[in-house]
Amino acid sequence: MRQLLFIPGPVTVSERVLAAMNRPLIDHRGPKFSELVERIYARLRPIFGTQEAEIVLLGASGTGGLEAAIANAFSPGDTLLAAPMGAFGERMIAIARKYGMTVDALEARPGFAVDPREFAQRLNDDTEHRYRGILLTHNETSTGVQSDMGELAAIAQAHGALTIVDSVSGLGATDFRMDEWGYDIVAGASQKVLAAPPGVAMLAISPRAWNAIEASKTPRFYFDLVKAREFARQGQMPWTSPVSTMFALDVALEQYEHEGAPAIHRRLATYAEAIRAAFAALGLEVFSQPGAHSVTVVTAKIPDGVDAAGLLRGLQEERGVTLAGGQLDLKGKILRMGTMGDISQTDVLAAIGAIEIALLGYGVPVRVGAAGKAALSVFLNLGGATPGDGQKSSAQMDAQTTGTSR
Ligand code: PLP
Repeated sequence: MRQLLFIPGPVTVSERVLAAMNRPLIDHRGPKFSELVERIYARLRPIFGTQEAEIVLLGASGTGGLEAAIANAFSPGDTLLAAPMGAFGERMIAIARKYGMTVDALEARPGFAVDPREFAQRLNDDTEHRYRGILLTHNETSTGVQSDMGELAAIAQAHGALTIVDSVSGLGATDFRMDEWGYDIVAGASQKVLAAPPGVAMLAISPRAWNAIEASKTPRFYFDLVKAREFARQGQMPWTSPVSTMFALDVALEQYEHEGAPAIHRRLATYAEAIRAAFAALGLEVFSQPGAHSVTVVTAKIPDGVDAAGLLRGLQEERGVTLAGGQLDLKGKILRMGTMGDISQTDVLAAIGAIEIALLGYGVPVRVGAAGKAALSVFLNLGGATPGDGQKSSAQMDAQTTGTSR
């Protein structure tokens, strides 16, 4: 059965991006590949919001990029402060501990973003500057929570420790200003908002972070960023590059540029709002809290009496809609629906209809049609404003996104 892919990465990629993967391979040490790498850097710069950072592309998934960032920026014995909001924030802590760093964790309450006051307090209390580094998550995919990265940046800057941001599922989804905000290393990946296949991690690294990387005593080989920079400066990647994924990423970034960041930010925010409205109409409690909602993934509690695994399996096998379940301690408790990738409003409405039918099958009392109507009301801008969309109506937005196969 044809599947509508609504997991929060990897995502549905456009036909043009898929077709790019079919091109004959080229020499990854030759001039054509260097041109492609330079084009990718140029298109990534505004997405990261940086002119000062050097960008390094790695043949890895997002976790590889994060491991490289942490291992290279710090040394065994360093103390870090992490502010996890879910499973991926915890993963960064696990990576750092594996490399012999000591990590203090400021855990956000489930469904909430980092509390800026608590974060500031922790850093203010560190009068001896024990913290060499700070680990933050832009968008926590396991809980559907998004941080206000501008606000957290000001607090982190006042302390002065080196900051690493996991923006794997956030990069390209909201305005990000690495230089202005003063973040040191920001990590992204090809298979999320950028809507290319998995296989390329990207790190934007500030001049200050490069000094720390040169001084780091952590043993490293495959993910040695000093070596990666030598190659990056020649428009290459260290080791054998994932050439086909790079072809696809090049086209995906061209499409990103063509649609334009503001339109993409609005599209994701509108999809997320429509899905939240539909979930509310279905009687599903949205897991993320107001003010902390992610635009790339919507999370909702599984109703009592519904078997999460069965619900997701049924949706996939009988209705052709693939959603994700919860991770770690949220396994079996929530479902997650992504907004990223080459999906249309029609696809969103179809998926919502499928969820409604599946819930009815479990005997959940659902007002038939209410969820679709709620989502449609958001798309048609019939009620309420779209978060992050102060100016344009959804109708205008539709006019903008028409022609981008959405
Ligand atoms: N961090 C976040 C916020 C993520 O969403 C993900 C993947 O979903 C990762 C890290 C790990 O990335 P990958 O699965 O590409 O290794």
